[in-house]
Amino acid sequence: MKSPAELTALFRQHGRKITPQRVSIFHALAGNDQHPSAESVYEVVHDEMPSISLRTVYQTLHDLAEMGEIGQLDLGTGSARFDPNLDPHHHLVCDECGRVVDVSASFDDVRLPPRKLAGFRVSSTEIIFRGRCADCAHDA
Ligand SMILES: [Zn+2]
Ligand SMILES: [Zn+2]
Repeated sequence: MKSPAELTALFRQHGRKITPQRVSIFHALAGNDQHPSAESVYEVVHDEMPSISLRTVYQTLHDLAEMGEIGQLDLGTGSARFDPNLDPHHHLVCDECGRVVDVSASFDDVRLPPRKLAGFRVSSTEIIFRGRCADCAHDA
């Protein structure tokens, strides 16, 4: 993801309004590897900026996703998750608590044999490894 300053410039370039609320959302996302939902971004930002609405958070996250500055993922955890990590990668997903962890895609040697491709030309591969995270496996 671009830095908050770069995103601010980019939003201006696209004629989108820059407000202190939006900038604080950029900061909440920078370096965030938790794959936050809109709700959890809202919780963080709301602490320092009580005037912000969940709607603004949704709108800003969707704008960023639309501009290709963050990824929007449906990992089956109940709500869309947003990912500032734009490098190709896979995910570990905890079925219990919804924790999402990046797995670097150094092994894009995951290839299907041509007979299984049904004529598709594959351009990217995203694998979801499901299970329980260390904390949740511990409780059981
Ligand atoms: Zn867990
Ligand atoms: Zn990720």
